[in-house]
Amino acid sequence: MTLIPLLKDMEKHMSFKYKNIVADAGYESEENYVFIEHNNQAGYIKPQNYELSKTRNYKKDISRRENMDYDPQTDSYTCKNRKKLSAVATRTERTATGYLRKVTIYECKNCRNCPYKKSCIKGNNCKTPFKDRKKRLYVSRKMEEKKAECLERILSDFGTQLRLNRSIQAEGSFANVKEDMNFRRYLYRGKENVLAQSTLLAIGFDINKLHHKIMTGRTGTHLFELKKAS
Ligand code: SF4
Repeated sequence: MTLIPLLKDMEKHMSFKYKNIVADAGYESEENYVFIEHNNQAGYIKPQNYELSKTRNYKKDISRRENMDYDPQTDSYTCKNRKKLSAVATRTERTATGYLRKVTIYECKNCRNCPYKKSCIKGNNCKTPFKDRKKRLYVSRKMEEKKAECLERILSDFGTQLRLNRSIQAEGSFANVKEDMNFRRYLYRGKENVLAQSTLLAIGFDINKLHHKIMTGRTGTHLFELKKAS
């Protein structure tokens, strides 16, 4: 919920618009993807399940739609038991900011006597007896589409370079300010005073950074290069 107001605010105060928006996994949402695209920018946001999706447990989890085959022609998934999960309904969800998200519900017609049922259907709060339960998936097709496009971007060389620079430049700045500049707490109270102290801190940080760039001959460059494997 904070990314879109930040981007709007930046546009209001800056004379140019950044082409690429790099953010960590906490900022992944359909609303953010769609806003960035409509704003003629390219999103480089790591999917929330990116690290988890590389684990063996995740890949073995047959209950996840990511581990089922999806056929766009028939708009259906095929499960571990080779049964089809077809679209049976759609519903529209409204986010806290008013964004409308269309969710498709996929259902397997026959899960009875399936040998994989216990691993596939989870959740103990359902009132339907387990033997009668059918596997359902709730999927936003738009989110799937935007996530796939974004994943392709972040896995490209340029995307990898942007992500590397995000961790160095954004996360590293906090470490520099707290450890190297020993900034641990604000000296004054009130929004205006905190803003004034933050601005002075940012100016000091930028002067240090510029000095370091001059000393290392990196002026005019904005991104650290990816290290090439030798
Ligand atoms: S429980 Fe249903 S969806 Fe899951 S593997 Fe068995 S038949 Fe397929």
